[in-house]
This record gives sequence, structure tokens and C-alpha cells, in this order.
Amino acid sequence: MVLPLARRALLAGRRRLPRPASAPRAPAAAARLCSGAGGEAEAAGGDGAMLRHLTRKLRASGPVTVAEYMREALTNPGQGYYTHRGGVGESGDFITSPEISQVFGELIGIWYISEWIAMGKPPAFQLVELGPGRGTLTEDILRVFKQLTSVLSTCDVSVHLVEVSPKLSEIQAVMLTGGKAQPSPEDESAYMKGISKTGIPIFWHRDIQDVPPGYSFYLAHEFFDALPIHKFQRTEKGWREVLVDIDPEVPGQLRFVLSPSRTPATQNFIQPEETRDHVEVCPEAGVIVQRLASRIEKDGGAALVADYGHDGTKTDTFRGFQNHKLHDVLSAPGTADLTADVDFSYLRKMAQGKTATLGPIKQREFLKNMGIDLRLQVLLQNSGDTATREQLLHSYDMLMNPEKMGDCFNFFALLPHHRLVHPDKKDKPESKSPLPPVAGFNELLLK
Ligand code: SAH
Repeated sequence: MVLPLARRALLAGRRRLPRPASAPRAPAAAARLCSGAGGEAEAAGGDGAMLRHLTRKLRASGPVTVAEYMREALTNPGQGYYTHRGGVGESGDFITSPEISQVFGELIGIWYISEWIAMGKPPAFQLVELGPGRGTLTEDILRVFKQLTSVLSTCDVSVHLVEVSPKLSEIQAVMLTGGKAQPSPEDESAYMKGISKTGIPIFWHRDIQDVPPGYSFYLAHEFFDALPIHKFQRTEKGWREVLVDIDPEVPGQLRFVLSPSRTPATQNFIQPEETRDHVEVCPEAGVIVQRLASRIEKDGGAALVADYGHDGTKTDTFRGFQNHKLHDVLSAPGTADLTADVDFSYLRKMAQGKTATLGPIKQREFLKNMGIDLRLQVLLQNSGDTATREQLLHSYDMLMNPEKMGDCFNFFALLPHHRLVHPDKKDKPESKSPLPPVAGFNELLLK
């Protein structure tokens, strides 16, 4: 059922607009590659407003957790990196898969339609993207929805973007609505709304809790890695939390210190059976996954999470990026992107069995299963000039090469239990036809 549709979308000749076919794309070094893969760290300037703010705060109340430091540096309403600088894209500090290739978002669009059909074509769904960056991924997904209008014609689709950055939400509004979005009245759950260029209503929210209840497909691409982490170090005296403090030796410089005793976080977040000596935990990611799982359990839908990460094995992955280079995490806060690998084992645990989980599966396997090779062939056949063809091959290599983004980026999904196991299978196993496999996590048979 879904396969001919997927095939139709993969074979569509259209390339995304308004970018010209020959637009320069990001060089390989530009992606936020896996931990430690980016070369020497660079320090950089900025006007120092965030550093002054943090220094005042540290003087007044002492060292802060890494989570508090990261929250201030990234999303402080005045000088935070995302709030103020934006950062995503070729002209920013790091490049992401949807910015590298249109194919990435197209395949994700097909994934949602595939799940919508597999779940019995509910009459309405919300596409909810967490941390949409420049809005490129949603734009590519909406283009696929438009191509498959005849399939979705009976379905009432709306888009909900969860974004804290005023700067990025403006960029998203230009990308998705041609700049025609309007601020909403204060009492509404959305702070801005508009209509996509393809005619779909779009709403902007600051928090997932503001998104109205209802059948929803959630998307989090390079979102969880931007959320604040706590860091812990095992010592002879037991677990200690890593904190950020002023360096007394060097004026205007910050340094890491260890908490003199246990902190509430060491007590709450370190498992007794932990074997690593250094651990990073992102409680905010845990809370968001709990919310997603509760909403999917109650209202239906699915969540697709794509990010670099590990399954509870890595230790020190906290790093900064500026101008596409590694950047000292404590230098010039507010001017660089700060990020840490996502711990998928923690996300799975935080779903608390309310939903089933799939993955993490490597990006190159997921995209291959989704038909990236066929899509590449179609785009190559339809492109007349050598520069475009080279660009298509280059971006394919960026996404798929195990040394680049193919192995360190992962896909992970939350799905209702009944999507994977018939509710009454135990009673009458023979009476049910098999459930359709979940695309991406299984090979998609296109013929
Ligand atoms: N998904 C995009 C952008 C990734 S960058 C892409 O792959 O290209 C991280 C995004 O998350 C930015 O849009 C940033 O503003 C947003 N963000 C960071 N912290 C957030 C938070 N606490 N709540 C909502 N959005 C957040």
C-alpha cells in the first residue's frame, strides 16, 4: 500500500526552491561531526556581554552546573547563542543534514506518510518539529506532502514548530510562509502563526506543552543535542558534579571545577550500576521524551528523533562549534554552539514503556532503507549540468559516508505499542495479517 506512494515521491523530478541548483553547498568539514572529529579547538571573541553576565552571576552565587552554563549560553533571552546568533547553515557555525541535501527531508516526509497509512489514515494530524533551525527540514517535508496531495486530500494537516529563538523563528517564517506569518495574541498557545507556501496552517510555540493535544507526528533533528547536560566525574570520594567557575588565575576566563561534595544531581542521575568514570545526563531531554511518550500513548502518532549519539556508552562529549570549527566550550560563551551527544539509552528509559521504541539505527542504514539511492539516481538523471551532479554526489557522500555523517548520526523512534504488536495477538495470533514494517528501520521494498 505505502510502497507505490513512496516510489512516486522518490521519482518526482522536482528540486527544492528557491536555492539555485548550482548553489554552493557546505564542505565536508562543516558538519558538526561526531565527538572529537573536528580538529583543533579555536577560541574567539564576541562582544563579551554573555561572559560579563556569567562572571557577575558566578561572583554573586558561586559555581554553576554545566547545565546552567549551557542554558545561559544557548538560550538566555538577551544574549543566548540561539536567541541572538542563530548559527545553523553554511553562513553560520554548523551545517546539518537538511541543509546539506533536500533528499534528507524528502525521505523523512515519506516516513511520516508511510506511518500515517500504516496507522489507518487518521483524518487529521499535526506535524510537530522541535527546534526547526532555519525551517529547511519542514519545507522539504511539506514539498513531499504537496506531491502526494491526492493521498493526503482527506487529511487535515497542520504544522507546529517548537522554537525558543526569535531570530530563528523569523527565518523559519520567511522560509515557510514567504514572510507572511503574524504574531498571535498573548492569550493564544502559539506566539506566531501563518500559512505555508503549500497552504498548510503553521503555528509557532515556545514549549511542547503549548502544542494542542491531538494525533501528532513529532520530529526532533539535532534538537536533543542542544539541550543542557549535567556532567559527573567519579572520584575516590564518590561521584562529583562538574561545575563552571571563574578562573582565579586568568581574568575573564572560566574553568571547570568539581563540586566539593555530592549535589542533588549526582544523587538523582547516577545509577548505582554505572560503570563509566565520566557521565553526561540531559534531564530536559528526559522530560521532553516523557511528554512525547505520554502524548503518543494518549492521542496517537509517532516521534522520529535523529541526532548524533550513543547508547549509554560514551563519556565526555561536550563540545563547541564556531565558524564550522571546534571551539573551546568555556571561551566567549554566547558566540558558539554548544552540544553533547544524545544518550539514546536514557531517552528509551524515559519513554517509561508508554510507547515502543525503535533504534538507534545508523543514518546511512535508515536513509538506505528509505530509498536514498533511487532518489539520488532520479535527481542525477534530471540534472543537466555537471556542477549540480557533482553537488548531488557530494551531499550524498556527506550524509552516507561512515566517516562523515553516515555512522555517527542515528535515527530513533517512539511508536504506539499497537503499531508493532497486535493488541490481541496473544489471544488469536492466526487471525491477524502481519503489521506493515516500520519504514527506515526495515528495508523499504520499492518494487
Ligand atoms: N533541526 C534544525 C536545527 C538544529 S539547531 C536542523 O537540523 O537544521 C537546534 C534548534 O533547536 C534551533 O532551532 C534552536 O533555536 C532550537 N532550540 C534550542 N533549545 C531549544 C529549546 N529549549 N526549546 C526549543 N527549541 C530549542
